[in-house]
Amino acid sequence: MEATKKLTFLTGNKNLSEELRRIAEKVLHEERISFQEAVYLYEHAELGYLGVLANYIRESKHGDYTYFNRNFHIEPTNVCVYSCNFCSYSRLIKNRTEGWEMDVDGMMDMVKKYDGEPVTEVHITGGVVPKQNLEFYAEFFKRCKAHRPDLHIKGLTPVEYYYIFKKAKLSHYEGLKYLKSCGLDSMPGGGAEIFHPEVREKIAHDKCNAEQWLDIHEQAHKLGMHTNATMLYGHIEEYWHRVDHMDRLRQLQDKTGGFQTFIPLKFRNKDNQMDHVPEVSVIEDLRNYAIARIYMDNFPHIKAYWAMISRQTAQLSLSFGVDDIDGTLDDTTKIYSMAGAEEQSPAMSTKELVELIKQVGRHPIERDTLYRVVTDYKDVEFEDTAPKKQYYKLPVVD
Ligand code: SF4
Repeated sequence: MEATKKLTFLTGNKNLSEELRRIAEKVLHEERISFQEAVYLYEHAELGYLGVLANYIRESKHGDYTYFNRNFHIEPTNVCVYSCNFCSYSRLIKNRTEGWEMDVDGMMDMVKKYDGEPVTEVHITGGVVPKQNLEFYAEFFKRCKAHRPDLHIKGLTPVEYYYIFKKAKLSHYEGLKYLKSCGLDSMPGGGAEIFHPEVREKIAHDKCNAEQWLDIHEQAHKLGMHTNATMLYGHIEEYWHRVDHMDRLRQLQDKTGGFQTFIPLKFRNKDNQMDHVPEVSVIEDLRNYAIARIYMDNFPHIKAYWAMISRQTAQLSLSFGVDDIDGTLDDTTKIYSMAGAEEQSPAMSTKELVELIKQVGRHPIERDTLYRVVTDYKDVEFEDTAPKKQYYKLPVVD
């Protein structure tokens, strides 16, 4: 009710431009905003206004529910045949002196480390190397499922699949169908970066293009798999490039309905070829989450990686459209820390994550990959509750 009252107030607020009042009106009546209106929001809307609109949508879809899951990451290699300029993670295959490249046994050892642990998902992504081909992943998926059938395999992005299927001379559909029969359950959202060629050719010129990325997701949706989508923002792109990116995803979602979650990823400038490009502010991060929530009306969820943006910004993001703050509860991923993320050792216990969510008045829900409720933490009290720090007053518009 509070969210509706605030939004209704904005629709009649004469201090706002006619465009902003009209967009608020559209959100109130669950109408889709246009490409031009999204660009207008990026150019003219202030944070408090965006928060009211995004929070209204977030609460209409999910109330106070805030999701996280228990997963672990396997990064089979950080060596890569590609050379994305923003990448702080990969070591070039052509002059490799460092980096790791796992075999299937090594990956299975990681899976076995979690035997008996209440994790529901393994998230697999990394660099692209010739040895980790179709048969490599087919064997791993089969062995992983045989060892632990209940573990959901969320594996690889179109960047890896495009390379693997091309080498195997399979269509995207055939390749995914085969890997699904080996145990693949769903796909994460990486490798999307910014779709528009004007930007993509400057930051990620040699990997799969927008059409190939989108087609691989479309084929996965045809096979009944759910997938996610990301956007790497805050570098050399202009606002309309972000809207173009979201628009292509929104169109595909209209067609297939197979996306679950949109994940804006903040560009970090540590140790990469774009270290001269300044990072955007936290205010811009929050504006971006909010506009994503408003524009991507057909995406059920908007996610923030707390390890990437800091715990406090993740808390704030829950009032700007975000309803999922990811669930890496240990430090099995190096992707964020190597790019200069806030959390250099991203480990958080369930208790810490639940309290982080409760501190800002939200309702923590542990989910599985498909957003089925695993545990409702609303009334769960942990022993030895630490004093509540890190509370942030949220912007008030009226
Ligand atoms: S972003 Fe991915 S595809 Fe690009 S260089 Fe890094 S690991 Fe390779």
